[in-house]
Amino acid sequence: MQKLEHIGIAVKNLSQSIPLFESLLNTSSYKEEFVESEAVRTAFFAVGDHKIELLESTDPESVIAKFIAKKGEGIHHIAFAVTDIETEMKRLVAAGFVMVNDIPLAGADNKLVCFLHPKNTNGVLIELCMERKA
Ligand code: ZN
Repeated sequence: MQKLEHIGIAVKNLSQSIPLFESLLNTSSYKEEFVESEAVRTAFFAVGDHKIELLESTDPESVIAKFIAKKGEGIHHIAFAVTDIETEMKRLVAAGFVMVNDIPLAGADNKLVCFLHPKNTNGVLIELCMERKA
């Protein structure tokens, strides 16, 4: 694990939350992106070395839609940058953690991502992300 990369926040309405976070953070969202693999629209903000990722569901069956239905809006996951996602996944599985996805998926922001099941991480959904090589 190299560093905390970003914090993902589930929101109901991206077009309302973007100006809210622009006002809060005093900076503009630098990127908006649709992520097909997770059925979400995302918006990114840079805060120093870290990012805030807002996530809005585009499908009532998506993970984000279900999260909001159950828990309401709020912090959804914490993401750590890794240099070799497959090696790190193997290390974590060997240590007893459970992956939500067995192989890395195409995530937002040109990343390969995987998630650890929150049942083994004190209820915190953890994402690993690795920059995709061009
Ligand atoms: Zn994320």
